[in-house]
Amino acid sequence: MYRAGAAAARSCENRGVSDTWDLIGDAARRARAYLDSTRDVRVAPPPVAVDGLAEFDHRLPDGPTPGAATIEHLDRFGSPATVHTNGGRYFGFVNGGTSPVGLAAATIAGAWDQNAALPVMSPVAARLDEIASRWIVDLLGLPETATASFCAGASVANLTAIVTGRDAVLRRVGWDPAERGLAGAPQVAVVASEEIHTSVRKALRVAGIGTDAILPIPTDLFGRARADAVPVTEGPTLVLLQAGNVNTGYSDPFAEIVDGLDRERCWVHVDGAFGLWANAAPERRRFVSGVELADSWAVDGHKWLNTPYDCGVTVVAHAADLEASMAMDAAYAAAGEGRSPMNLGLQMSQAARAVPVWAILASLGRSGVAELVERCCVHAERFGLLLEAGGAEVLAPPVLNQVLVAFGDDDTTDRVVLGVQGEGTCWMGATTWKGRRAMRISVSDMSTTETDVDRSAAAVLQVWDDVG
Ligand SMILES: *Cc1c(COP(=O)(O)O)cnc(C)c1O
Repeated sequence: MYRAGAAAARSCENRGVSDTWDLIGDAARRARAYLDSTRDVRVAPPPVAVDGLAEFDHRLPDGPTPGAATIEHLDRFGSPATVHTNGGRYFGFVNGGTSPVGLAAATIAGAWDQNAALPVMSPVAARLDEIASRWIVDLLGLPETATASFCAGASVANLTAIVTGRDAVLRRVGWDPAERGLAGAPQVAVVASEEIHTSVRKALRVAGIGTDAILPIPTDLFGRARADAVPVTEGPTLVLLQAGNVNTGYSDPFAEIVDGLDRERCWVHVDGAFGLWANAAPERRRFVSGVELADSWAVDGHKWLNTPYDCGVTVVAHAADLEASMAMDAAYAAAGEGRSPMNLGLQMSQAARAVPVWAILASLGRSGVAELVERCCVHAERFGLLLEAGGAEVLAPPVLNQVLVAFGDDDTTDRVVLGVQGEGTCWMGATTWKGRRAMRISVSDMSTTETDVDRSAAAVLQVWDDVG
């Protein structure tokens, strides 16, 4: 028994190193082949490829299979069943593509296997976390005092910020929720745009506040909260606004709303999952003006910055507030010299998410990020013009990267969307906007070109012709 075990251990060791290198080389070749093809194939996989996923549907194997065979299987049946979000013509939801430099950095970071929780676990992860945080605050035009921390996405960032704000406003009235919890605590009022993202509503549920607490701010035709109709509250209050409505891309009038608030009692949080990036592009800044006046922000890396999944960012105007809610207990906190990511967010162990962020920002620079944002907005405008010229109705003139289009009645619009998804040149989703069905086009992939827009708009109009 013992000998067999020792032999197995030895053979594992021997195999280990060279096998790992071979596997990585093989995976890189396969990834390269995939990326080379991603511009030329149907955006959504054909049904036959999805059927091929049955090849994964086996019992858990009783014994080992060589890694190379496993990766071969994954590529052979997995790759064809992907949605090509990084081929320039995927316009669904608000999904970004992949920055090549970000993916390359994530590949190296994967080999590093760093746990970014504490600087002592990874000096490089901690340093890049700190630098990327500073750069993001700077690029997004947020206060110099602000701190950014990396997490799984804007949903988690919204939750992190809402918990931080909840705790801060309660502490100001003499209640420490970290020790006393919420039972018996003063009521926290919530004022939120009626167009607030579903992930913010979920965050309120998870944070023990509940959605019944929401006092809605009515919105205008384009989904902007109306500054003249902000409900008045007493006591501790969270005010939840957004930069970039998921349908129209419009943002709330931050300065006007914030002006009317008692900042001592009110914590202002902005969900800017994609829209906050407008502040990094001089031509678009006016669409989010005043956004820097908030107390906290949620923004995504994996949408407009095109980081690999997953990456969101929580930004809080004062690090002390974030730490008051997110720091581990004192014993662990003491283990961290300097900035410790685990004390700035929900997770302890965590991927070094800042590595691809750092690489993308270092590579693009300030002007490159501005250009990426501006280019997507210009593509969105072009989409609107081309589809309008073809007879479609643009429901909100694009200001950022989102376009809403209707093709006559609701039924026809739905048929056009389904038809486009099946046709394969491009992919757009459907939504309901102010009671009407609409095609929602989001230009968030850095690799989209003007030709992609022209081809896609032509395909959409052709499908309309075919199904209309
Ligand atoms: C996508 C999105 C979210 C949620 O972000 P995830 O990264 O998917 O968690 C929140 N708010 C808005 C406005 C969004 O567009």
